[in-house]
Amino acid sequence: MHRIDLPRIVLVGKGVLNSLDGVCHELGYHKALIVTGNNTVKVAGEHVQNILADDHIASDRSIVEDAQLETVGRVMDDAGKAQAEVLIGVGGGRSIDVAKLAAAKTGKAFISVPTVASHDGIASNLASVKGMERPYTVKAVSPVAVVMDSGIIAASPYRFTAAGCGDVICKATEVEDWKLAHLENGDYYGAYAASLALISSQLVMESADKIKQNTADTVRDLLEALISCSTSMSIAGSSRPCSGSAHLFSHALDLIVDKPALHGEQCGVGAIMMAKLHGLDWEGIRASLERLGAPTTAASLRIKNDKIIEALTMAQGVRPDRYTILTKFPLDRASAEALASETGVI
Ligand SMILES: [Zn+2]
Repeated sequence: MHRIDLPRIVLVGKGVLNSLDGVCHELGYHKALIVTGNNTVKVAGEHVQNILADDHIASDRSIVEDAQLETVGRVMDDAGKAQAEVLIGVGGGRSIDVAKLAAAKTGKAFISVPTVASHDGIASNLASVKGMERPYTVKAVSPVAVVMDSGIIAASPYRFTAAGCGDVICKATEVEDWKLAHLENGDYYGAYAASLALISSQLVMESADKIKQNTADTVRDLLEALISCSTSMSIAGSSRPCSGSAHLFSHALDLIVDKPALHGEQCGVGAIMMAKLHGLDWEGIRASLERLGAPTTAASLRIKNDKIIEALTMAQGVRPDRYTILTKFPLDRASAEALASETGVI
């Protein structure tokens, strides 16, 4: 059996946050737990609670400051005490991931309300939480609704939006990894899911100048691409269409660098190098990232050259079972250094 869970309601646009009460009513929820961070509570968390209160939907609030497994446990307790029917993640990566996993573990519904658009987890069924055995995402639950207020996202620091573009653009290499895994390793491959991820990457590259304007209207291209990427993962039943060698490079950096850059920033830089290995148009990927103002070098990631080389050599080892171009062409220090320098990353 191949089961596909998708959000029932997706709202994208300026001011759609004000429709959250209607979304809850439509889905039949009367008690909610709002999972949000110390900063995002001011940006949107409090506002969400007021909107719900005005419409007689009771809500408690759980503040999260990290995405550790213990925090997920605390939020699960809070959800139980509040007798919440739905967990509403309001914020960036941490609040969304913690709410999503806590919802999955308690069998409650999850609504995603991102305040930044820095990665494709905002609408996916996967969560990235620290304190588990693996440094990459685990299966949680698909949001029953996604409410993306483009006004709030356009007002967030642009760095997050540029990172989200990096997470989408890298699908060009991630899909190529998937194809390779199918051809050379016999992995399952879904052409429809692959196409959805790939077209998102192409559209964001084509819309780079528009997205850079960073208005509530122009950021929608990115938001819709992120939804498409999430949908592709739900259809594929795994992160495979969206996560290949560029992601392994980013996961490796997260393991060895004290202060890693944003996930999407690292994936974008990874995509430049992996595209060269794949024989794709790596210069086109780099040019799109530059137009978006996203990092394309070690210096702009604020990561030392040495760590870039080390991450390249250890990336495949982070997830050996995921066949990628790095399985086919393993990198040693010399070849990793050559790749990073030929692509201008170091
Ligand atoms: Zn990603």
